[in-house]
Amino acid sequence: MASKRLRVAVIGAGAAGLCAARHVLNYPDTFLPPVVFEASDQLGGTWVYTEQSGEDAEGWPIHSSMYHDLRTNLPKEVMAFPDFPFNPSLPSFVHHSDVLAYLESYAEHFGVQDHVQFRWQVNDVRPVLGDQGTASGWDVKATVRGSGLTQHVSEHFDAIMVCTGHYAIPFIPPIPGLDSFQGCLLHSHSYRRPEPFAGLTVVLVGAGASGVDLAMQLSPVAAHVALSHQGPPVCGLPEDILQVPRLLKVVKEMVVFVDGSVLQPDVLILCTGYRYRFPFLTLARLGLQETEYGVGPLYRHLLAPQHPSLFFIGLCQQICPFPHFHCQVLFALAVLRGHCLLPSAAEMEADAQGQLDRYLREGGLARHFLRLKAQQWSYAKELAKLAGFPPLPPAVQEIYEAVRARRLHNVGTYRNVNYRLLGPDAWEQVWDSGKA
Ligand code: FAD
Repeated sequence: MASKRLRVAVIGAGAAGLCAARHVLNYPDTFLPPVVFEASDQLGGTWVYTEQSGEDAEGWPIHSSMYHDLRTNLPKEVMAFPDFPFNPSLPSFVHHSDVLAYLESYAEHFGVQDHVQFRWQVNDVRPVLGDQGTASGWDVKATVRGSGLTQHVSEHFDAIMVCTGHYAIPFIPPIPGLDSFQGCLLHSHSYRRPEPFAGLTVVLVGAGASGVDLAMQLSPVAAHVALSHQGPPVCGLPEDILQVPRLLKVVKEMVVFVDGSVLQPDVLILCTGYRYRFPFLTLARLGLQETEYGVGPLYRHLLAPQHPSLFFIGLCQQICPFPHFHCQVLFALAVLRGHCLLPSAAEMEADAQGQLDRYLREGGLARHFLRLKAQQWSYAKELAKLAGFPPLPPAVQEIYEAVRARRLHNVGTYRNVNYRLLGPDAWEQVWDSGKA
């Protein structure tokens, strides 16, 4: 055990940051209470809904991409952190406000909120280099937002957990002519409600979770809704939603698809995903770089090989988020506690590169490297084995995969079912379509 208690900085008080802080607090012999830096004035990150989009009243960018009518795309039985269930009286697929309430009670239950410094925006994190060229600590600089006054604070830490999320900075694809579009152009990050689109013709670009969800929310109010994408047809969409091929270009008021068809929408909504950004880190100084898929090389998708006290929690996509954060956090803390011995920096870099090479050889696209999908389960098991904590209950994987299959089969009805956990490895479906 370390002779001096370690001071951990957690950047961000969304689900990942709360999970990090909760587990740091669980080892008071090893760690001092964490300092959680949160740029906004509320915990919950993505799950904090606001009617505003763009910038807030003080000119800070709005972080959350949450929209008014969102219901979760995963049931609460698998959204929950493994050590803290949702309120059992809720249906499986809950409104976003229930998730925020859940995160607030998680934070309260584990005493996390007392350690959150609200309105502190971290703007610089740099290593204090030890003899080996590896960080022996970290200097963190933050700006305190508030009443027009900007105050910079500087503090020293032994380890950093980056928990800043990756659904806040829109990715705008390079579509020829997009700048010339004469209708209303927005990204799903700024979408809040269907009402402003009543009676309009809307084209949505991208059929990920947001594109499909927004199309279904808009179809009852908009005059016409078209969903442009390049994948196989989305099953279960209302029949009045037109599925059109990939968008090729925009010519003033017209959008042209790859098959030559044309629409003249009032509104174009880009549901084209988000970018990873870490403006408070100088990546090159840390042996890291921006990559097509985000940032790398990272050992096990979370640890900076040259500075193994810097962790990124929650970078992966197409995962079961809260249980995944739980595993990553426990792995990171096992490393810091000396309970998980790491290979050398060179070996960890080679391991990360080898994993990427294998993925590319198997036909994966570099920009999708962090989309773990089914691989998330072996990943979580491996973290548990390396760090010596209990693996995720089998029921999490089983319910997640059952929901995924139902969603592929019919995006309109997959939420019409409740799940019941009977134990860590047993569950049942409770049909309840009347409530959905
Ligand atoms: P975030 O929730 O984004 O939190 C990051 C926090 O960091 C924010 O509070 C931000 O203010 C803070 N921050 C950022 N930069 C700084 C800085 N420099 N200094 C200080 N603080 C900073 N997941 C599910 O499990 N089920 C769902 O149904 C689901 N639906 C989703 C729907 C939408 C529209 C979106 C966008 C995501 C959805 N997700 C869903 C995924 C969701 O993002 C994750 O579940 C999870 O909430 C992400 O948590 P996080 O802590 O990684 O990031």
